[in-house]
Amino acid sequence: MFNMKINIITIFPAMFESVFAQSILKRAQESASVEIKVHNLRDWALDKHKMVDDRPFGGGPGMVLKVDVLCHAITDLKEKNKNSKVILLSPQGEKYSQQKAEQFSKKESLILIAGHYEGFDERIRDYVDLELSIGDYVLTGGEIPAMVIADSVIRLLPGVLGDENSAPTDSFSAGSSLLGHPQYTRPEEFDGKKVPAVLKSGDHGEIKKWREQKARKKTQEKRPDLS
Ligand code: SAM
Repeated sequence: MFNMKINIITIFPAMFESVFAQSILKRAQESASVEIKVHNLRDWALDKHKMVDDRPFGGGPGMVLKVDVLCHAITDLKEKNKNSKVILLSPQGEKYSQQKAEQFSKKESLILIAGHYEGFDERIRDYVDLELSIGDYVLTGGEIPAMVIADSVIRLLPGVLGDENSAPTDSFSAGSSLLGHPQYTRPEEFDGKKVPAVLKSGDHGEIKKWREQKARKKTQEKRPDLS
């Protein structure tokens, strides 16, 4: 039994292969924290040519993903995955954030829909729960945004990160309104720059205090809007 299911609809399923087959995302699937299924939209095509896109009415460049095929895919996946949240990836959507990742990590099932070319037939918007953008720029497709959302949600699932404390202290997390504190590793000195002595002192109280101070300073300097 998986903790969470993520279904992704795309016309380029191969784009996801290496991303989900490495590192923490791979282990999260092996430990049954998450089941990820990447589907080819073509599997729900309604005609013998397996058409998933068509030319836009009114003319103009590019192709538009078909509402009837997309709806068929959504209905089928919702049937198999009750309580799914259906998310359309689009540069026109609400801006994605760590807060949203935290909300999604508590859901049973997500369905992520990646567009391509000129995007979607406008009518698809009536059949999804949410339209999400990963930022104010335009990508060639929703595949990378779907990976961004899946990755940021999966690392918040219980047991996925080795150290349970690491997610709540991340930048933007609900446990903290601060950016993450500075981190150092060996060598102790590089190009005349030394690792702060307190981090080598073994005094955990002092280390905690130092990290909080530095996180506050960093936030004020880099992202004053957060503090
Ligand atoms: N013509 C569309 C528009 O003006 O909004 C842009 C289409 S874009 C080239 C193709 C697809 O990439 C979109 O349908 C969406 O799925 C995805 N995409 C591009 N940029 C995105 C972003 N910033 N956030 C989420 N999805 C994005």
